Amino acid sequence: MIKRILVTGGAGFLGSHLCDRLVEAGHDVICLDNFFTSQKANVEHLLERRNFELIRHDVTRPMFFEVDEIYNLACPAAPGHYQYNPIKTTKTSVLGAINVLGLAKRVKARVFHASTSEVYGDPEVHPQPESYRGNVNPIGPRACYDEGKRAAETLMFDYHRQNGIEIRVARIFNTYGPRMHPFDGRVVSNFIRQALSGEDITLYGDGSQTRSFCYVDDLIDGFLRMMEGQHPGPMNLGNPGEFTIRELAEMVIALSGSTSRIVQARDLPEDDPLQRKPDITLARGALGWEPSVPLHEGLGRTIAWFQGIDLGRYRPPTPNY
Ligand code: NAD
Ligand code: UDP
Repeated sequence: MIKRILVTGGAGFLGSHLCDRLVEAGHDVICLDNFFTSQKANVEHLLERRNFELIRHDVTRPMFFEVDEIYNLACPAAPGHYQYNPIKTTKTSVLGAINVLGLAKRVKARVFHASTSEVYGDPEVHPQPESYRGNVNPIGPRACYDEGKRAAETLMFDYHRQNGIEIRVARIFNTYGPRMHPFDGRVVSNFIRQALSGEDITLYGDGSQTRSFCYVDDLIDGFLRMMEGQHPGPMNLGNPGEFTIRELAEMVIALSGSTSRIVQARDLPEDDPLQRKPDITLARGALGWEPSVPLHEGLGRTIAWFQGIDLGRYRPPTPNY
């Protein structure tokens, strides 16, 4: 059945891939964004499609649409972006969730919410199952994002219990791929940009901290399955393949044929999680979902995309990259 679907943060990295899939499936898609960390180029190719509409709006302000489903992705996601204006980050998560849920209540829409592995903070349980309540520093530099996302989860479940709103809360782990902002300061974009230009690859700390990287196409499959499925979440969506940041640097150098050196550019940032790996038992069982693109393959595709873009067309959203 064709649905009317609102995607907040729809011009961003994940949002633009999601809009592609929804438009391709024939749905009537409204892409809403304030373009803080993205640009229209991500969805330029969709502008001529009759079932796609692009709207500039900030989710901290109320919004009125007549839709069947909402994907709530609006929020800066890279540490450098969300720490640039931390008060705005909390407002985006919390007021954004309130406005999206108020809209959902009025029109009886189902809401998919993009939460994050950051709700686990610097985890003492490894890998992280959904039952783990996390180890978040509520007053540190990452708190605006982590606590904002935790409060948004609370709002999702309270609107569900109090107002019967249908919710789907996904806890997304590190995801990469084409259309990441080349100046977002995230590790994959930094390393690829540095490798392709022959600059030093900047390890923060000694590079022994770990992350588990999911290719974007796999993740978006998970979004669509979760929205269609019956489980409200919270549900981990990510790739359980775990790598040290140094291993990632070595892989990027090998795949891009770069001559860059790996250097320890600075100490590990405050509250930077030492390890992160999703337990995806729930998603496997409830959605029959698991990622299929291994890191070396996804990195290859991402490097090819970075090779094809003109960096001069990308304005760094913040100085933090
Ligand atoms: P992104 O920065 O590319 O996309 C976020 C989008 O939201 C951007 O287009 C930005 O301009 C928009 N936005 C920010 N504040 C807004 C506001 N106040 N009003 C309207 N639009 C606003 O990041 P992404 O990686 O695509 O992340 C999308 C969502 O997924 C975020 O909510 C993020 O927290 C979540 N997430 C992403 C990852 C990941 O690894 N990519 C991991 C965990 C969670
Ligand atoms: N990192 C790094 N060099 C960089 C950028 C990031 O070593 O140029 C590290 C960062 O300290 C963290 C990991 O890579 O340990 C992942 O960082 P990212 O900003 O991508 O996302 P996070 O998972 O921390 O939100």
